Amino acid sequence: MNIREKVLIVEDEKSIAHFISTILTSNGYETLQARTGAEATAMLSSHCPDLVILDLGLPDMDGMQVLRGLRAWSSLPVVVVSARAHENDKVAALDAGADDYLTKPFGTAELLARVRTAIRHTRTTSPSSEIAQHGTYTVGDLTIDYNKHQVLMCGENVHLTLSEFRIVALLGKYAGRTLTYDYLIKELWGPRAGGDNQILRVNMANIRRKIEKNPAQPEYLFTEVGVGYRLAEKESE
Ligand code: CA
Repeated sequence: MNIREKVLIVEDEKSIAHFISTILTSNGYETLQARTGAEATAMLSSHCPDLVILDLGLPDMDGMQVLRGLRAWSSLPVVVVSARAHENDKVAALDAGADDYLTKPFGTAELLARVRTAIRHTRTTSPSSEIAQHGTYTVGDLTIDYNKHQVLMCGENVHLTLSEFRIVALLGKYAGRTLTYDYLIKELWGPRAGGDNQILRVNMANIRRKIEKNPAQPEYLFTEVGVGYRLAEKESE
């Protein structure tokens, strides 16, 4: 796998959360866990996952509430995992914006297939076209490979998450130009995304840790304070 996708598992039953997490990590995904709706909502904006696995029966609120809250600002893929097997429940979840619905109990292969499909779907229907670029962009030791969806430092894949790759890909497309916070948020998370810079800041800090020798003195990814971000431009064509 070129990019390690980060999956947020929202599930209050420890054994099920552990089961899902084990399957995903052993198949190359990075996982995070939330046990309540409130925790999930907070982690969605602070940890920037690439996909959410959402249980509906949460201790503090219905998972549908988490889903509706998320859909107000993001098109992040959501796979609902629930013991509710009625058709009405499935229809309601899909209507509220879930990408898929898996009924408990489920098997390993089934879970993996649904996760893969949901992620592939968002890649091909990404609101912006930055990932559809072709070729590579190189500046100094940094290379963005648009075909393989990889960012390399000195030829080594730095393993960005999907969100991180999309940010670098977009900045690379307009290298040398400052893209505003607002523009980046709308391009990356859709026109209904709020003006909250926190998600972007967390992602930027993670990217810098992976590509910069000294994140406090960046050589590639620059902050224009109060404006936005800019990726270093090639010195000569
Ligand atoms: Ca539950």
